[in-house]
Amino acid sequence: MLYISTRGHADRKHFCDILLEGLAPDGGLYLPEHYPQVDDAMLTRLRKAYHEQGYAELAFQILSLYIDDIPAADLKALCAKTYTAEVFGTGEIVPLRHLEDGLWLEALSNGPTLAFKDMAMQLLGNLFEYELTRRGAELNILGATSGDTGSAAEYAMRGKKGIRVFMTSPHGRMSPFQQAQMFSLQDANIHNLAIEGVFDDCQDIVKAVSNDLEFKRKHKIGTVNSINWARLLAQVVYYFAGYVQATETNGQKVSFTVPSGNFGNVCAGHVARMMGLPIDKLVVATNENDVLDEFFRTGVYRVRGSADTHETSSPSMDISKASNFERFVFDLLGRDGAKTKALFGDALSTQGQFDLSQDPRFAQAAGQYGFLSGKSTHADRLATIRDTHQRYGVTIDTHTADGVKVAREHRGDGSVPMIVLETALPIKFAQTIVEALGHAPERPAKFEGIEDLPKRVQVMPADLDLVKAYIARHCATAAQG
Ligand SMILES: *Cc1c(COP(=O)(O)O)cnc(C)c1O
Repeated sequence: MLYISTRGHADRKHFCDILLEGLAPDGGLYLPEHYPQVDDAMLTRLRKAYHEQGYAELAFQILSLYIDDIPAADLKALCAKTYTAEVFGTGEIVPLRHLEDGLWLEALSNGPTLAFKDMAMQLLGNLFEYELTRRGAELNILGATSGDTGSAAEYAMRGKKGIRVFMTSPHGRMSPFQQAQMFSLQDANIHNLAIEGVFDDCQDIVKAVSNDLEFKRKHKIGTVNSINWARLLAQVVYYFAGYVQATETNGQKVSFTVPSGNFGNVCAGHVARMMGLPIDKLVVATNENDVLDEFFRTGVYRVRGSADTHETSSPSMDISKASNFERFVFDLLGRDGAKTKALFGDALSTQGQFDLSQDPRFAQAAGQYGFLSGKSTHADRLATIRDTHQRYGVTIDTHTADGVKVAREHRGDGSVPMIVLETALPIKFAQTIVEALGHAPERPAKFEGIEDLPKRVQVMPADLDLVKAYIARHCATAAQG
């Protein structure tokens, strides 16, 4: 299997070459040359693999279709090491829970940081360590986080050979729980840099370091952002796991509703559907930041400025543009790299938007690709959290509430099971749960008292040179000893 860029660059690369890279050289995103097809016999084998051997075996079989430059025995061992009951809380890894007629929740948030990003990031940590060891290389991951991504990355990379993480976050602006999660890590290869500023200041610093090519090369700087193909691929697996739990025969279909921000999660659903998994609808749920809902309703993709980007109570979906969306548009346009480049490389940077409403292929977004969408507001989240708690005794988090609200609008006559992806546990967003229910959500035992643990964090001004000096100093000392 070789990988191509959505903007038509001539290079064809193997999985491990794009594993440690971000964007393709022409600024596009990587996608496989074609989607391997899962026929009836293979789907039956995958069903058995999940039910009889478990999630790790299912992951191994799906990943094998896309990775031909890691020996099978090694890949199998990496999957087995990643997807354990110990790390993900249950043997099923992503259990389905029945909520109401025709509506199910698939739990993706029982990993170390209680959000779905662990599903992919835990595998990425093991893949990075494997590949860096094989090459005798090192990687220093620099990132900016306002919460979920940073902690998922730190928990995935902690203690890994050849890897250091430098994670910037806005000082004092994450929830106490999120701060405690990140700053309580005592691993020597994890560096928390609390920047005196807002999230945009952190992101600007990361961008400036990435644009300093000499510094970047000298200090082997890399990232783990959501456009990484390996993260997306890891997410394809739980669409299969949801399907085989919700159905008994391969003739049945299911639909998924996905709380969405950067379009990474639901894009994995698109890949699973393109492989032939019997998915009826893929419903994109947004919050007030409705870039994606607007596109699927109107055909206009209009990125927002920072003044138009709302801070909401489902903050991990507060995006101004959806960084993985280009992958779907590439498929929608018949995999036309030149056309994709004209939209994402040119139109977006000059006009901040593009319009596919008059393109006959836009109509296929719903028909041929199954995409539908909807949005939710703070009041909707509160009502949905209250309602599922009162009626079913189930407390859901704010992002999952966006999903449940929108799923109910699209479940049709109920003959096709609708699976809502649960993307976080409510304890991460306790303040809004208190607002909705009048009491705090249950806290998993392993997180009792984490706010009181010693913190390992370096507070510093939003100053590029100071951050660079910190990185340079800590790369050097670690290399010596
Ligand atoms: C990251 C995140 C999302 C959004 O996922 P995308 O892949 O960016 O669409 C939704 N919910 C939670 C809790 C998240 O952490």
